[in-house]
Amino acid sequence: MHYLSYQLLKEARLSITKPREKILSYLLRYEEAVSGHTLEYELKDICNRSTVYRNLNALSKANIIHRIYLDGESRYKIHPGFLYKKFNINHPHFECKKCGRLFCLHDQSIHKPELPDGFVAEGINYIIYGYCNACSKVKMESEDAQKMDYLIEKQNQK
Ligand SMILES: [Zn+2]
Ligand SMILES: [Zn+2]
Repeated sequence: MHYLSYQLLKEARLSITKPREKILSYLLRYEEAVSGHTLEYELKDICNRSTVYRNLNALSKANIIHRIYLDGESRYKIHPGFLYKKFNINHPHFECKKCGRLFCLHDQSIHKPELPDGFVAEGINYIIYGYCNACSKVKMESEDAQKMDYLIEKQNQK
């Protein structure tokens, strides 16, 4: 039993079950958000698909984790507010175009836009996309390499 998973469940007054403990341990291991499919796969030996989603819903409702929608797919992440006692439910996310990882920018908040009369918001999905710290380095290096190739080619043409 992962100690922190146990603590989180206890603090949220949720019963401690194997699927919940396993979902939390898995999510605690990664810096990025994890897709429902990945969790289904990780838990396939201990429970069925609907149990996975039922538990994901229970954990989301208790605010231990949060759900992020991306390209019609849900990804899940431990709610940073729950860990640091600082609730910032509406924070922006960052999607890396290269490795596809999704990060929580939980120390930032989102300014809620005014809605026209009669519009009811259900949530905010604010995603910044670009390159994460690991991928932006690789990108710059490959751009440098391309420049270098170009210069060499030019040199050879002379
Ligand atoms: Zn990346
Ligand atoms: Zn988040």
